Amino acid sequence: MFSFSLRYPTLQFVKTSRSAVGLKTTNYKICSSISRRYAATSAIQEISTLLLVEHKDNALAVSTLNALTAAKKLGGSVTALIAGENPDSIAKTVSKLDGVSKVLVAKDKVYEHGLPEVYAPLLTTAQKKLNFTHLVASHSAFGKNILPRVAALLDVAQISDVIDIESPEIFVRPIYAGNAIAKVKSIDPVKVLTIRSTTFPPATTVDAEVSRESAPDAEKPTLAEWVGEEIQKSDRPELGSAKKVVSGGRALKSRENFDKLVYSLADALDAGVGGSRAAVDSGYCDNALQVGQTGKVVAPEFYLAVGISGAIQHVAGMKDSKVIASINNDPDAPIFQISDFGLVADLFTAVPELTEKLKK
Ligand SMILES: Cc1cc2nc3c(=O)[nH]c(=O)nc-3n(C[C@H](O)[C@H](O)[C@H](O)COP(=O)(O)OP(=O)(O)OC[C@H]3O[C@@H](n4cnc5c(N)ncnc54)[C@H](O)[C@@H]3O)c2cc1C
Repeated sequence: MFSFSLRYPTLQFVKTSRSAVGLKTTNYKICSSISRRYAATSAIQEISTLLLVEHKDNALAVSTLNALTAAKKLGGSVTALIAGENPDSIAKTVSKLDGVSKVLVAKDKVYEHGLPEVYAPLLTTAQKKLNFTHLVASHSAFGKNILPRVAALLDVAQISDVIDIESPEIFVRPIYAGNAIAKVKSIDPVKVLTIRSTTFPPATTVDAEVSRESAPDAEKPTLAEWVGEEIQKSDRPELGSAKKVVSGGRALKSRENFDKLVYSLADALDAGVGGSRAAVDSGYCDNALQVGQTGKVVAPEFYLAVGISGAIQHVAGMKDSKVIASINNDPDAPIFQISDFGLVADLFTAVPELTEKLKK
């Protein structure tokens, strides 16, 4: 055992044996049995991928860069599709990304808020007119909302949360909350994939620009309409891309405690804030902050779990973090099994002490 003091002698984080009991991965194969009729066609077709670009407030989502790296791994050409009310400047940025061979632009305000009802016909029309073999988006709320609908409209399987690509037909993805890794072979004529962004490096920019042209006109359903959204503005690093994350659990006991302890510690560390589902369900923090199987998957350089037990559904969302530390008053809490550093302490005394020391 290795004792690690983090410069603060009273808070002794103890080096734990991460992954000794943690997640085991098992490789096995699942072969989709659907659409065998298409197998021969897909074998001779050239690989041509359509990448759905995510953007907000005139900024490209970083997860799109990770999805592009995955798209390139498929081989063949990658066409980027960008839609929005005024997507020109983002389209220009995308046209300079390494690996993009063409940019399709759909300019209309119906595309402004990522409604799946309007995006799905846009993608299916592009696929049918331009014969893409693969449709790719990041496994973000945006991609997860749109691509399954596209897959249903194309009558093919949706392949979610892809963490590696072995070939244009074989994809690797976690199952059972990340406790096993499945290799999925798809023999559908079109593969519809969402990509776990933390497992692919971001694509880079090059000097040359590729051509931009209008996307094929698609039906614009009016059954769904954007009403509005309430988003908390914050200067803190965004959870999905933060290099450091502090997450709080049920043990915080109230929203006031969560704000006072977790946010203060995060500010002292310049970290993003996350929470367990128990913390979200109890109303201690917003549900956009949920980390885990049904929340966000994060892989920061440093993840600090405060008063979180380490249920597999939570671990599924943070186990790929480079360094994991946890504070828990139960020495047998499962979170310690996947932690690099553990502090057995009452969070109500340890967190204020740590925050004060970090501020100095
Ligand atoms: C289908 C499904 C999907 C799910 N998806 C998610 C998900 O995406 N994300 C997620 O987080 N969960 C998810 N869950 C819930 C998950 O199973 C757990 O219930 C949840 O993660 C527990 O949250 P917690 O660790 O904050 O609370 P608890 O399990 O109650 O743990 C609280 C911890 O705090 C410690 N503690 C108590 N008091 C103190 C103190 N004073 N100081 C220090 N430590 C203290 C306790 O020892 C305990 O270990 C899902 C569950 C299901 C069934």
